[in-house]
Amino acid sequence: MSKNNYTVHVRFYEELNFFIDKRYRKKTFTRTVSRGTTVKAMIEDLGVPHTEVDLVLVNGTPQPLSYRLKSGDMVSVYPVFESFDISSVTKVREKPLRKPAFILDVHLGKLAIYMRMLGLDAKYVNDISDDEITITALRENRTILTRDRGLLKRRIVHHGYYIRSKFPLEQLKEIIRRFSLEGSISPFSRCLRCNILLEDIPEKQIVRGRVPDKVFLTYDRFKECPSCHRIYWRGSHWENMKNIFDSLDL
Ligand SMILES: [Zn+2]
Repeated sequence: MSKNNYTVHVRFYEELNFFIDKRYRKKTFTRTVSRGTTVKAMIEDLGVPHTEVDLVLVNGTPQPLSYRLKSGDMVSVYPVFESFDISSVTKVREKPLRKPAFILDVHLGKLAIYMRMLGLDAKYVNDISDDEITITALRENRTILTRDRGLLKRRIVHHGYYIRSKFPLEQLKEIIRRFSLEGSISPFSRCLRCNILLEDIPEKQIVRGRVPDKVFLTYDRFKECPSCHRIYWRGSHWENMKNIFDSLDL
């Protein structure tokens, strides 16, 4: 063994096993790394995006992803925990998100619409580059949602989530559970086109002539997007949202 190579022992827990090669799953295995290798580099070399990791223990002590491995280290890598709070021991994530806001990659347009239907902040632009997604996420403190692991491996990505399902409604359910968004759901509050919060129209007369006569006569409450000026009411949009929400069976 060259003195520039170290042997370390590694174990991944729970769903992180999903990312790694079969022969490494659910057991401790040995890995050779070169001097100076960080935990982040090693786990990503094995296929795990660092954004999926919430806690790293080295020889039983929490360490950040930037920790440089030493010979003989025992490294235990844990995913983001859904059911209990480990904030007191977590070292990996330094900047908690204040309120849930997301940016979706170009393949998740349908999920973006579903999220907006539920009032969730889902930025989506269909011709945005990976660089722009990364920069926007940092600037606006948004969590990246993607099915592209490469995007999540970028060093400057702090918050991201690799979506497992290929089906938009399943994806919706997945992110609601993963980020505990049940309390953030507010249907009929966000423009489906612009992702901007709708404003109440104080006086029904304002929408006369801007919505079909039948709609004007049937409904009393309307909302408007301050950006595209589309008018929303609790008609078919509302029924669609309600059906979707009910079908999620959260
Ligand atoms: Zn709009």
